[in-house]
Amino acid sequence: MNYEVGGHHLICLQFYHGKGYNQQFIDKLNEVVNRAKKGGEIEIIYGVDEICSVCPYLVDDTCNYNEESRDTAYQIDNLALELLKLSVGETIFWEDIKERIPEIIKTWRTEVCRECEWREACEGYRGD
Ligand code: SF4
Repeated sequence: MNYEVGGHHLICLQFYHGKGYNQQFIDKLNEVVNRAKKGGEIEIIYGVDEICSVCPYLVDDTCNYNEESRDTAYQIDNLALELLKLSVGETIFWEDIKERIPEIIKTWRTEVCRECEWREACEGYRGD
């Protein structure tokens, strides 16, 4: 079964290690990451993905984390796809994304992690 992941989740999930907004959200992250690591094919979509679908901040298919989050989410989703050289509708495997991370992480940290509220808990930000 394909499953749907969008934009910045493709990058940030590479650094996921068990933290999230609530237990339902964590359970979904665990499910998605475990399936991906076992070789499940990831279909790249735009906007609300399987992870957003259980997020407590999703209201009417829109990110309501804060006033800027909708625009910010689209911006970083676009940047993630650009850096990973991926397009909506393509499919990819976890290991293929992982291989691309070293090339892009410096830019990602500068452009995205710096403003991310999860950075203190995230391995993606470590090393700076
Ligand atoms: S610090 Fe935030 S933006 Fe950076 S990889 Fe981690 S979750 Fe993603």
